[in-house]
Amino acid sequence: MITHSMPTLTQSDYSAVLKVLHSGHIVQGAMVRTFEEALASFIGVRQGVAVSSGTAALHLSLLALNIQEGDEIIIPSYVCPALLNAVMYVDARPVIADIDAATFNVDVTDIKGRITRRTKAIVVPHMFGSAADIDGITALGIPVIEDCAQSAGARHGHAYTGSFGVCSIFSFYATKMLSTGEGGMILSDDSEFSARVRDLRDYDEKDGYVVRYNYKMTDMQAALGVSQLQRLPSFIERRKKIAARYTDTLSDIGLAGPADAGEHIYYRYIVLTPDAASFIDRMSTSEISCRRPVFKPIHHYMGLSDCPVTDDIFSRAVSIPIYPSLSDDDADRIAAAMRENIAR
Ligand SMILES: *Cc1c(COP(=O)(O)O)cnc(C)c1O
Repeated sequence: MITHSMPTLTQSDYSAVLKVLHSGHIVQGAMVRTFEEALASFIGVRQGVAVSSGTAALHLSLLALNIQEGDEIIIPSYVCPALLNAVMYVDARPVIADIDAATFNVDVTDIKGRITRRTKAIVVPHMFGSAADIDGITALGIPVIEDCAQSAGARHGHAYTGSFGVCSIFSFYATKMLSTGEGGMILSDDSEFSARVRDLRDYDEKDGYVVRYNYKMTDMQAALGVSQLQRLPSFIERRKKIAARYTDTLSDIGLAGPADAGEHIYYRYIVLTPDAASFIDRMSTSEISCRRPVFKPIHHYMGLSDCPVTDDIFSRAVSIPIYPSLSDDDADRIAAAMRENIAR
Protein backbone atom coordinates (compact mmCIF):
# COMPACT_ATOMS: atom_id res chain seq x y z
CA MET A 1 0.00 0.00 0.00
CA ILE A 2 1.33 3.46 -0.89
CA THR A 3 0.54 5.70 2.08
CA HIS A 4 -1.22 9.05 1.62
CA SER A 5 1.38 11.20 3.38
CA MET A 6 4.44 10.92 5.59
CA PRO A 7 7.17 13.11 7.11
CA THR A 8 10.59 13.31 5.41
CA LEU A 9 13.12 12.41 8.11
CA THR A 10 16.82 11.84 7.52
CA GLN A 11 20.06 11.32 9.43
CA SER A 12 20.59 15.08 9.85
CA ASP A 13 17.21 15.31 11.65
CA TYR A 14 18.13 12.44 13.99
CA SER A 15 21.52 14.03 14.82
CA ALA A 16 19.93 17.43 15.46
CA VAL A 17 17.50 15.95 18.00
CA LEU A 18 20.16 13.73 19.59
CA LYS A 19 22.41 16.75 20.13
CA VAL A 20 19.68 18.42 22.18
CA LEU A 21 19.09 15.21 24.17
CA HIS A 22 22.81 14.97 24.97
CA SER A 23 22.87 18.61 26.08
CA GLY A 24 20.36 17.82 28.83
CA HIS A 25 18.36 20.99 28.09
CA ILE A 26 15.24 19.58 26.48
CA VAL A 27 12.52 22.16 27.26
CA GLN A 28 11.96 25.58 25.64
CA GLY A 29 15.32 27.29 25.43
CA ALA A 30 18.00 28.46 23.01
CA MET A 31 16.96 26.05 20.25
CA VAL A 32 13.36 27.32 20.31
CA ARG A 33 14.74 30.85 19.89
CA THR A 34 16.90 29.71 17.00
CA PHE A 35 13.90 28.10 15.28
CA GLU A 36 11.76 31.22 15.83
CA GLU A 37 14.41 33.45 14.31
CA ALA A 38 15.08 31.06 11.43
CA LEU A 39 11.42 30.78 10.32
CA ALA A 40 10.71 34.50 10.81
CA SER A 41 13.74 35.40 8.72
CA PHE A 42 12.88 32.80 6.04
CA ILE A 43 9.32 34.15 5.67
CA GLY A 44 10.46 37.78 5.94
CA VAL A 45 8.70 38.76 9.17
CA ARG A 46 10.29 40.31 12.28
CA GLN A 47 9.00 38.18 15.17
CA GLY A 48 8.36 34.47 15.66
CA VAL A 49 6.84 32.74 18.70
CA ALA A 50 6.94 28.93 18.74
CA VAL A 51 4.11 27.00 20.37
CA SER A 52 2.92 23.43 20.83
CA SER A 53 0.61 23.21 17.80
CA GLY A 54 -1.03 25.12 14.97
CA THR A 55 -4.24 25.10 17.00
CA ALA A 56 -2.43 26.73 19.96
CA ALA A 57 -1.03 29.31 17.51
CA LEU A 58 -4.55 30.16 16.31
CA HIS A 59 -5.88 30.31 19.89
CA LEU A 60 -3.12 32.68 21.07
CA SER A 61 -3.49 34.84 17.92
CA LEU A 62 -7.19 35.40 18.72
CA LEU A 63 -6.39 36.15 22.38
CA ALA A 64 -3.59 38.56 21.47
CA LEU A 65 -5.99 40.35 19.09
CA ASN A 66 -8.23 40.77 22.15
CA ILE A 67 -11.17 38.87 20.65
CA GLN A 68 -14.10 38.93 23.07
CA GLU A 69 -17.18 36.78 23.64
CA GLY A 70 -19.68 37.36 20.83
CA ASP A 71 -17.17 38.86 18.39
CA GLU A 72 -17.53 37.39 14.92
CA ILE A 73 -14.61 35.63 13.26
CA ILE A 74 -14.87 34.64 9.60
CA ILE A 75 -13.36 31.29 8.61
CA PRO A 76 -13.86 29.24 5.43
CA SER A 77 -15.84 26.00 5.49
CA TYR A 78 -13.39 23.88 3.51
CA VAL A 79 -10.79 23.45 6.31
CA CYS A 80 -10.09 21.19 9.29
CA PRO A 81 -11.98 21.81 12.57
CA ALA A 82 -8.86 23.37 14.19
CA LEU A 83 -10.03 26.80 13.00
CA LEU A 84 -13.50 26.33 14.42
CA ASN A 85 -12.02 25.10 17.72
CA ALA A 86 -9.82 28.18 18.12
CA VAL A 87 -12.87 30.44 17.62
CA MET A 88 -14.86 28.41 20.18
CA TYR A 89 -11.97 28.55 22.73
CA VAL A 90 -12.40 32.35 22.97
CA ASP A 91 -16.24 32.20 22.95
CA ALA A 92 -16.39 34.11 19.68
CA ARG A 93 -18.98 33.45 16.96
CA PRO A 94 -17.74 31.51 13.92
CA VAL A 95 -19.04 32.87 10.62
CA ILE A 96 -18.48 30.35 7.84
CA ALA A 97 -17.57 31.50 4.33
CA ASP A 98 -17.69 29.55 1.06
CA ILE A 99 -14.72 28.84 -1.22
CA ASP A 100 -13.78 29.74 -4.77
CA ALA A 101 -14.56 26.92 -7.23
CA ALA A 102 -11.29 27.38 -9.13
CA THR A 103 -8.77 27.66 -6.29
CA PHE A 104 -10.56 25.90 -3.35
CA ASN A 105 -9.45 28.88 -1.24
CA VAL A 106 -11.84 31.20 0.60
CA ASP A 107 -13.94 33.39 -1.70
CA VAL A 108 -13.50 37.15 -1.21
CA THR A 109 -16.96 38.07 -2.52
CA ASP A 110 -18.57 35.56 -0.19
CA ILE A 111 -16.57 36.98 2.76
CA LYS A 112 -17.80 40.50 1.89
CA GLY A 113 -21.43 39.38 2.18
CA ARG A 114 -20.82 38.01 5.69
CA ILE A 115 -19.11 41.03 7.25
CA THR A 116 -21.09 42.79 10.00
CA ARG A 117 -20.33 45.46 12.63
CA ARG A 118 -19.21 42.63 14.93
CA THR A 119 -16.65 41.10 12.51
CA LYS A 120 -13.31 41.33 14.34
CA ALA A 121 -11.01 39.09 12.31
CA ILE A 122 -10.78 36.86 9.25
CA VAL A 123 -8.73 33.66 9.37
CA VAL A 124 -7.37 33.01 5.87
CA PRO A 125 -5.82 29.59 5.27
CA HIS A 126 -3.74 29.17 2.13
CA MET A 127 -5.10 25.72 1.39
CA PHE A 128 -3.28 22.75 -0.11
CA GLY A 129 -0.12 24.76 -0.92
CA SER A 130 -1.32 27.76 -2.87
CA ALA A 131 -2.04 31.30 -1.75
CA ALA A 132 -5.57 32.60 -1.17
CA ASP A 133 -6.54 36.01 -2.61
CA ILE A 134 -4.77 37.69 0.29
CA ASP A 135 -4.63 41.14 -1.35
CA GLY A 136 -8.39 41.17 -1.89
CA ILE A 137 -9.02 40.08 1.70
CA THR A 138 -6.60 42.45 3.46
CA ALA A 139 -8.16 45.28 1.39
CA LEU A 140 -11.42 44.72 3.31
CA GLY A 141 -9.80 46.49 6.27
CA ILE A 142 -10.45 43.77 8.88
CA PRO A 143 -7.52 42.15 10.76
CA VAL A 144 -6.37 39.03 8.89
CA ILE A 145 -4.76 36.00 10.51
CA GLU A 146 -3.02 34.06 7.76
CA ASP A 147 -3.12 30.30 8.32
CA CYS A 148 0.03 28.90 6.68
CA ALA A 149 -0.28 25.37 8.10
CA GLN A 150 -0.35 24.08 4.49
CA SER A 151 1.64 26.80 2.74
CA ALA A 152 5.04 27.09 4.46
CA GLY A 153 7.37 28.19 1.66
CA ALA A 154 4.63 29.15 -0.84
CA ARG A 155 5.00 32.58 -2.39
CA HIS A 156 2.32 35.09 -3.30
CA GLY A 157 3.85 37.43 -5.84
CA HIS A 158 7.30 38.22 -4.53
CA ALA A 159 6.65 37.56 -0.85
CA TYR A 160 6.03 34.40 1.16
CA THR A 161 2.58 33.58 2.48
CA GLY A 162 2.68 34.46 6.14
CA SER A 163 3.96 38.00 5.57
CA PHE A 164 0.65 39.68 4.64
CA GLY A 165 -1.64 39.47 7.68
CA VAL A 166 -1.47 41.17 11.09
CA CYS A 167 -0.02 37.79 12.02
CA SER A 168 0.34 34.35 10.53
CA ILE A 169 0.29 30.88 12.04
CA PHE A 170 2.13 27.70 11.08
CA SER A 171 1.73 24.03 12.01
CA PHE A 172 4.56 21.51 12.16
CA TYR A 173 2.37 18.45 12.66
CA ALA A 174 4.08 15.27 11.40
CA THR A 175 2.84 15.43 7.81
CA LYS A 176 2.85 19.19 7.18
CA MET A 177 5.38 20.90 4.87
CA LEU A 178 7.94 20.70 7.67
CA SER A 179 7.61 18.65 10.78
CA THR A 180 8.42 18.75 14.49
CA GLY A 181 6.00 15.93 15.39
CA GLU A 182 3.56 18.44 16.84
CA GLY A 183 4.25 22.16 16.90
CA GLY A 184 3.31 25.59 15.67
CA MET A 185 4.42 29.19 15.35
CA ILE A 186 2.97 32.69 15.25
CA LEU A 187 4.77 35.26 13.08
CA SER A 188 4.18 39.00 13.20
CA ASP A 189 5.93 42.26 12.41
CA ASP A 190 4.32 43.84 15.48
CA SER A 191 6.64 43.40 18.47
CA GLU A 192 3.93 44.31 21.02
CA PHE A 193 1.62 41.68 19.55
CA SER A 194 4.40 39.09 19.68
CA ALA A 195 5.20 40.03 23.27
CA ARG A 196 1.54 39.38 24.20
CA VAL A 197 1.71 35.96 22.49
CA ARG A 198 4.99 35.17 24.28
CA ASP A 199 3.39 36.08 27.61
CA LEU A 200 0.28 33.95 26.94
CA ARG A 201 2.21 30.80 26.00
CA ASP A 202 3.85 30.36 29.41
CA TYR A 203 2.26 30.44 32.90
CA ASP A 204 5.27 30.89 35.12
CA GLU A 205 7.01 33.97 36.55
CA LYS A 206 4.06 36.37 36.37
CA ASP A 207 3.76 39.10 39.02
CA GLY A 208 0.01 38.91 39.64
CA TYR A 209 -2.23 35.94 38.92
CA VAL A 210 -3.38 35.83 35.30
CA VAL A 211 -4.89 32.98 33.28
CA ARG A 212 -2.09 31.69 31.08
CA TYR A 213 -1.41 28.60 29.00
CA ASN A 214 1.27 26.00 28.67
CA TYR A 215 1.68 26.02 24.90
CA LYS A 216 5.48 25.84 24.87
CA MET A 217 7.54 24.00 22.27
CA THR A 218 10.50 21.87 23.42
CA ASP A 219 14.10 22.29 22.25
CA MET A 220 13.93 18.73 20.85
CA GLN A 221 11.10 19.74 18.56
CA ALA A 222 12.77 23.04 17.67
CA ALA A 223 15.99 21.22 16.68
CA LEU A 224 13.94 19.09 14.32
CA GLY A 225 12.26 22.24 13.01
CA VAL A 226 15.58 24.01 12.31
CA SER A 227 16.90 20.93 10.55
CA GLN A 228 13.72 20.52 8.48
CA LEU A 229 13.56 24.21 7.56
CA GLN A 230 17.01 23.95 5.97
CA ARG A 231 15.58 21.35 3.60
CA LEU A 232 12.22 23.05 2.95
CA PRO A 233 13.28 24.42 -0.48
CA SER A 234 14.33 20.92 -1.58
CA PHE A 235 11.08 19.45 -0.19
CA ILE A 236 9.13 21.94 -2.30
CA GLU A 237 11.21 21.25 -5.40
CA ARG A 238 10.56 17.51 -5.06
CA ARG A 239 6.80 18.03 -4.50
CA LYS A 240 6.64 20.18 -7.65
CA LYS A 241 8.46 17.49 -9.67
CA ILE A 242 6.01 14.80 -8.59
CA ALA A 243 3.06 17.12 -9.27
CA ALA A 244 4.36 17.85 -12.77
CA ARG A 245 4.59 14.09 -13.37
CA TYR A 246 0.93 13.67 -12.35
CA THR A 247 -0.22 16.66 -14.36
CA ASP A 248 1.64 15.51 -17.49
CA THR A 249 0.12 12.06 -17.40
CA LEU A 250 -3.38 13.25 -16.62
CA SER A 251 -3.85 16.35 -18.72
CA ASP A 252 -5.29 14.40 -21.65
CA ILE A 253 -8.01 12.65 -19.61
CA GLY A 254 -9.54 15.81 -18.18
CA LEU A 255 -8.68 15.30 -14.52
CA ALA A 256 -8.57 18.77 -13.05
CA GLY A 257 -7.23 20.10 -9.79
CA PRO A 258 -7.10 23.63 -8.39
CA ALA A 259 -6.51 26.27 -11.07
CA ASP A 260 -3.05 27.79 -11.27
CA ALA A 261 -3.40 30.76 -8.92
CA GLY A 262 0.29 31.63 -8.79
CA GLU A 263 2.84 29.37 -7.14
CA HIS A 264 1.65 25.96 -5.91
CA ILE A 265 3.93 24.01 -3.57
CA TYR A 266 1.65 20.94 -3.62
CA TYR A 267 1.11 20.26 0.04
CA ARG A 268 -1.74 18.31 -1.52
CA TYR A 269 -2.28 17.16 -5.10
CA ILE A 270 -6.03 17.24 -5.63
CA VAL A 271 -8.08 15.88 -8.49
CA LEU A 272 -11.77 16.43 -9.12
CA THR A 273 -13.50 13.13 -9.82
CA PRO A 274 -17.17 12.35 -10.56
CA ASP A 275 -17.52 10.93 -7.03
CA ALA A 276 -14.84 11.16 -4.32
CA ALA A 277 -15.93 8.16 -2.22
CA SER A 278 -15.95 5.64 -5.07
CA PHE A 279 -12.67 6.94 -6.56
CA ILE A 280 -10.98 6.56 -3.15
CA ASP A 281 -12.33 2.98 -2.95
CA ARG A 282 -11.04 2.09 -6.41
CA MET A 283 -7.59 3.58 -5.70
CA SER A 284 -7.46 1.58 -2.49
CA THR A 285 -8.06 -1.60 -4.51
CA SER A 286 -4.98 -0.53 -6.49
CA GLU A 287 -3.11 -0.37 -3.16
CA ILE A 288 -2.92 3.41 -3.12
CA SER A 289 -4.22 5.35 -0.14
CA CYS A 290 -6.10 8.49 -1.18
CA ARG A 291 -8.13 10.78 1.06
CA ARG A 292 -10.64 13.55 0.98
CA PRO A 293 -8.53 16.76 1.27
CA VAL A 294 -10.89 17.87 4.06
CA PHE A 295 -12.58 15.15 6.13
CA LYS A 296 -15.79 17.15 6.59
CA PRO A 297 -16.55 20.81 5.81
CA ILE A 298 -17.10 23.07 8.83
CA HIS A 299 -20.62 24.08 7.80
CA HIS A 300 -21.67 20.40 7.84
CA TYR A 301 -20.53 20.09 11.49
CA MET A 302 -22.65 23.16 12.25
CA GLY A 303 -25.75 21.97 10.39
CA LEU A 304 -25.57 24.85 7.89
CA SER A 305 -26.27 24.63 4.16
CA ASP A 306 -25.12 27.94 2.72
CA CYS A 307 -21.75 26.95 1.22
CA PRO A 308 -22.77 25.36 -2.12
CA VAL A 309 -19.31 25.55 -3.71
CA THR A 310 -17.77 23.75 -0.73
CA ASP A 311 -20.51 21.08 -1.01
CA ASP A 312 -19.70 20.52 -4.68
CA ILE A 313 -15.92 20.40 -4.26
CA PHE A 314 -16.24 18.21 -1.16
CA SER A 315 -18.25 15.60 -3.08
CA ARG A 316 -15.66 15.38 -5.90
CA ALA A 317 -12.20 16.28 -4.58
CA VAL A 318 -9.65 13.55 -3.86
CA SER A 319 -6.13 14.03 -2.47
CA ILE A 320 -3.49 11.83 -4.12
CA PRO A 321 -0.28 10.76 -2.28
CA ILE A 322 2.46 13.41 -2.61
CA TYR A 323 5.51 13.87 -0.35
CA PRO A 324 9.24 14.38 -0.90
CA SER A 325 10.19 10.74 -0.22
CA LEU A 326 7.71 9.34 -2.77
CA SER A 327 9.77 7.61 -5.49
CA ASP A 328 9.41 8.25 -9.22
CA ASP A 329 8.32 4.62 -9.64
CA ASP A 330 5.55 5.02 -7.07
CA ALA A 331 4.49 8.32 -8.64
CA ASP A 332 4.23 6.60 -12.02
CA ARG A 333 2.26 3.74 -10.49
CA ILE A 334 -0.12 6.28 -8.91
CA ALA A 335 -0.53 8.18 -12.19
CA ALA A 336 -1.32 4.94 -14.04
CA ALA A 337 -3.85 3.90 -11.40
CA MET A 338 -5.55 7.31 -11.56
CA ARG A 339 -5.82 7.01 -15.33
CA GLU A 340 -7.28 3.52 -15.06
CA ASN A 341 -9.69 4.29 -12.21
CA ILE A 342 -11.03 7.54 -13.59
CA ALA A 343 -11.97 5.78 -16.84
CA ARG A 344 -14.06 3.16 -15.05
C1 LIG B 1 -3.08 21.27 10.36
C2 LIG B 1 -3.82 22.54 10.26
C3 LIG B 1 -4.13 23.30 11.40
C4 LIG B 1 -3.92 22.82 12.81
O1 LIG B 1 -2.60 22.53 13.14
P1 LIG B 1 -2.27 21.53 14.35
O2 LIG B 1 -0.79 21.65 14.51
O3 LIG B 1 -2.69 20.15 13.93
O4 LIG B 1 -3.01 21.99 15.55
C5 LIG B 1 -4.74 24.53 11.21
N1 LIG B 1 -5.05 24.98 9.98
C6 LIG B 1 -4.79 24.27 8.86
C7 LIG B 1 -5.14 24.84 7.52
C8 LIG B 1 -4.17 23.02 8.96
O5 LIG B 1 -3.93 22.31 7.85
